[in-house]
Amino acid sequence: MEREDFIKTEVGIIGAGVAGSYLAHTLSEKGVDVVLIEKSRKIKIDSGIVSLDIKKFVNLKEGLILDKIKRMRFFSSKYNFDLYSKKPFAYILKREEFGKYLRKIATKNGTKLFYDECKKIKLNKYFYITGKNNKYICKILVGCDGANSIVRKFLGIEEPKFAIGFIHKTRKKMKINEVSVYHDKKYSKRFFGWIIPQNKEIGLMTEIKNSKNKFSEFLRNKVNEKFDKRDYFHLIPITTTKSFYKNAILVGDACGQTKPLTGGGIIYSLICAEKAKDAIINHIEYNKKIEIYENLWKKEIYKEIVIQRLIRNIYESFNNKQVDEIFREINKIDLENFEYDSSLSFFKEFIKKEPKKASKLFVIFLKNLFRLF
Ligand SMILES: Cc1cc2nc3c(=O)[nH]c(=O)nc-3n(C[C@H](O)[C@H](O)[C@H](O)COP(=O)(O)OP(=O)(O)OC[C@H]3O[C@@H](n4cnc5c(N)ncnc54)[C@H](O)[C@@H]3O)c2cc1C
Repeated sequence: MEREDFIKTEVGIIGAGVAGSYLAHTLSEKGVDVVLIEKSRKIKIDSGIVSLDIKKFVNLKEGLILDKIKRMRFFSSKYNFDLYSKKPFAYILKREEFGKYLRKIATKNGTKLFYDECKKIKLNKYFYITGKNNKYICKILVGCDGANSIVRKFLGIEEPKFAIGFIHKTRKKMKINEVSVYHDKKYSKRFFGWIIPQNKEIGLMTEIKNSKNKFSEFLRNKVNEKFDKRDYFHLIPITTTKSFYKNAILVGDACGQTKPLTGGGIIYSLICAEKAKDAIINHIEYNKKIEIYENLWKKEIYKEIVIQRLIRNIYESFNNKQVDEIFREINKIDLENFEYDSSLSFFKEFIKKEPKKASKLFVIFLKNLFRLF
């Protein structure tokens, strides 16, 4: 193939999920020439729960919200408590519409979207991308191609660690009204299961080993249904990786930009896509090194990631009896206002509203923290 046969662009983005579509949108809004390469016309579906911070990134007037959450119910193997806030603390997105909307705003701004699968990448001054249908050349390459990133592999960056997330949709009428979260070591040592009645969804985030059996058991026990062919599962990165190499960067699940406690990555993908845009514009306009991207996103979310990792490690060390003890102590949490994406904001509000419970829990956590070392 002659060089003329290549589709040429300044920035080539692989993957039009949340990270890739949003980055393409912000870059083309600034007049940057962007090609977005996506292998599937279908939108990858997740549970779509996000903090109110989503409003900083997209215009929610577009009918993208399914529901606003003020109450969540948490279950251990024996007890449960309600987390209640006077004001909504999270949204459930209409996930398919949201994914389509992001692709739409990217192309509206001038991004050229190709439905093509990236198969091979070569670096020879520029990046040469071989797709199933076309070939592309770009000066800057961005891997937004999710947990199994081909770009990450090409760049020789180590894999993150993974958990796995399952989603089953029920056709039956659901018996519960609020989002319910299940912390039971039988199904997941480090994470949790959930039911989102608004989505008619039953899900589980768990360790990869034996995960299908654990999910089948969870389904049977919670809704008396079986794992079926329509159920889907995806890897969820639970550690971050290096996010740059020469003029290439990774954004979103590709480099593990997810919340360690929940695996949630929508807001982090949007935050990091903003930082990627800043680094790319700085590179194009002022020839600054693109690797400043890693400092930019770490400054924004890394502290929260470290706190959540610590909490996750402590939680992992608990057995069901200890989790029950915590749930019994908590009983109920009424909060005025807190940010769903920030554990610090949650703890501050918890200490303010429930100082006795907070100090008891603090002692339990501290005891277990010392056991870890
Ligand atoms: C079961 C489950 C539930 C979840 N629930 C939530 C939640 O409630 N809230 C939340 O914030 N997060 C949630 N997440 C996490 C969230 O889905 C991800 O963090 C987020 O979607 C990451 O976006 P991304 O753009 O980085 O990757 P992805 O959404 O995975 O997008 C990657 C895109 O790249 C494309 N692609 C991959 N390889 C290629 C290739 N070779 N060529 C071309 N295209 C390619 C894919 O088709 C895909 O469109 C959940 C995850 C799972 C698994």
